[in-house]
Amino acid sequence: MDGDGRAVVIRIVVSRALSVYRRSKNPDSEDWFGLGADKVLATLGILIITTYIVKAMYKKWQNYRARRRVENEGDERDERNRDNLIKRIVGTLQERDHECPICLGEANFPVLTNCGHVFCCSCIIRYWKQSKTIFDPCDCAYCRCTFNKLLPIRWPTPGASDEIDEQFQKNNVDLEDYNKRFSTEKPRLESILFQVKKFIRKNWIDIVRILVLPVCSVIYVCLSAEPKHPDEVLEFFDNLFLTILLFAALIRWLRNYLAERRGVQ
Ligand SMILES: [Zn+2]
Ligand SMILES: [Zn+2]
Repeated sequence: MDGDGRAVVIRIVVSRALSVYRRSKNPDSEDWFGLGADKVLATLGILIITTYIVKAMYKKWQNYRARRRVENEGDERDERNRDNLIKRIVGTLQERDHECPICLGEANFPVLTNCGHVFCCSCIIRYWKQSKTIFDPCDCAYCRCTFNKLLPIRWPTPGASDEIDEQFQKNNVDLEDYNKRFSTEKPRLESILFQVKKFIRKNWIDIVRILVLPVCSVIYVCLSAEPKHPDEVLEFFDNLFLTILLFAALIRWLRNYLAERRGVQ
């Protein structure tokens, strides 16, 4: 199951555990899970969360160690690589014609990545949109380095023909869009907006549960004829939302599984 699917399952377990626990504390309602189920579920929930946190921390720590090792070993090699990269970029800039490694033709509206490789602007932008989401920088189609800047080199001057003007416009928009997203020289406000977008994209399930569902519950309580406690309505909405997400995750998982099976055969 993918990341979203796992997040939904964890949230369902936690919310079930909490709701059973709350019910068992309320003498008026029947505890339909039987004696002690609340404690079992709560323990299970805590266990799962702890495992999740420990696993995430362990992974972070491993990444950190790997990075440190690479940094220590690679200082000298880095310097050599940097020298090579500069030489390559200077060499590339002096050449008159460039071959695009994606379409294997002469690069049309050539762009230089900061790993020193040249592509057609439209080829590398298409490759980026196909291989990554628009929130993640592209890996070079030639050397797999992640690059965060595209430089236009020797583009045809606009005004030669309508067709060139049109291509110039389109490529320029794509190029600026890419550099605005990933180049570190972007203005502060845009970088903040980008971080906010990234945060929302990562945590949208909880944002909906904390901000949107309570508002829906209050509206529902105000509009409905029979008096209901907002807590109850919120719990209902929350369960409904998580169940829908669970089904969506299951369908995604099943589709990927079938696609993989078909790929193997
Ligand atoms: Zn190309
Ligand atoms: Zn490259």
